[in-house]
Amino acid sequence: MKPRILLIYTGGTIGMMANPSTGELQSLDFDYIHQQIPEIARLDLEVIPISIAQPIDSSHMQPAHWIELVELIAQHEATVDGFVILHGTDTMAYTASALSFMIQGLAKPIVLTGSQLPVGILRSDGKENLLAALEIAGKKGSTGKPLLQEVAVFFQSKLYRGNRVSKISAHQFDAFDSPNYPLLGIAGVEIEIHTNELLEHPKTNTTYFKQLDARVGLIKLYPGINLSAYQSVFNPEVHRAVVIEAFGSGNTPNHEAFAKVLSAYVEQGGILVTISQCTSGSIQPGKYASGHLLAELGAWNGTDLTTEAAMTKLMWYLGTSTNPHQAEFCRVIAGESA
Ligand code: ASP
Repeated sequence: MKPRILLIYTGGTIGMMANPSTGELQSLDFDYIHQQIPEIARLDLEVIPISIAQPIDSSHMQPAHWIELVELIAQHEATVDGFVILHGTDTMAYTASALSFMIQGLAKPIVLTGSQLPVGILRSDGKENLLAALEIAGKKGSTGKPLLQEVAVFFQSKLYRGNRVSKISAHQFDAFDSPNYPLLGIAGVEIEIHTNELLEHPKTNTTYFKQLDARVGLIKLYPGINLSAYQSVFNPEVHRAVVIEAFGSGNTPNHEAFAKVLSAYVEQGGILVTISQCTSGSIQPGKYASGHLLAELGAWNGTDLTTEAAMTKLMWYLGTSTNPHQAEFCRVIAGESA
């Protein structure tokens, strides 16, 4: 029997066409993609297309859309062998990360892909990306079970762990990177899957989490930052947690006014999580004297999490935990950190 793949369309450039009067790119329905890529029918797969209620440019993505995707996947889990999600590139890394925390123990692939150019454009990257993503989602291992059993992103010949990628280019076809984790596979003449890099196959049943707490803030440090201008960010009623993109291995400015805002937030019950604004490497709290402040304030160590993974892991964790604490947050859920 051919592997059955649910192809979920959420919007994004891949399915857009220029509005004839304004020239602006607008989302179309999934039938348009099917017309543009008739080769889908030639794959040795049964592809079942479906769309979210309202396809969007992914810059409009909201946690509610992630919940909608989780519901669609839960509804079809029993009847398909894998999932491919067509998604805009702008927030694809956030959605991939969110799904990796919201769907745990799924022994099937969820592969997100999209394109930098709409499929109707001659040099579009959409066709290659979609056909390869479908083929990867349909791959079976020697036991007959799906080879890939995790959330991944496929883009420009490369297969990445979903919660390790970031979008790094607004104009190159090679738009993603995963500096802290090796590729899961590569599509050359053959599609090679690097099985030693894949997540271990889950031993538990699938759990779907549909509760997210979006009261999570994000601050990127820069020389000269005036934290008192961010009072409403550091208000625990607005944000239960704030991710700090610190310098290097977790370093911060050392002036008193800076520390004052953060310590007042922590005293009122706010949670700080430190990640690095460098694209690769990890937080090492004691490495420099300037790296002590956040650790002394009890900031949770975000190690080598991407911004996308840190934000979505917090939304998931705060949405599910009754008594949030660092040790539990730092437990690796889906290969998101070392
Ligand atoms: N703005 C588009 C989106 O994310 C860009 C893309 O798909 O590449 O939906």
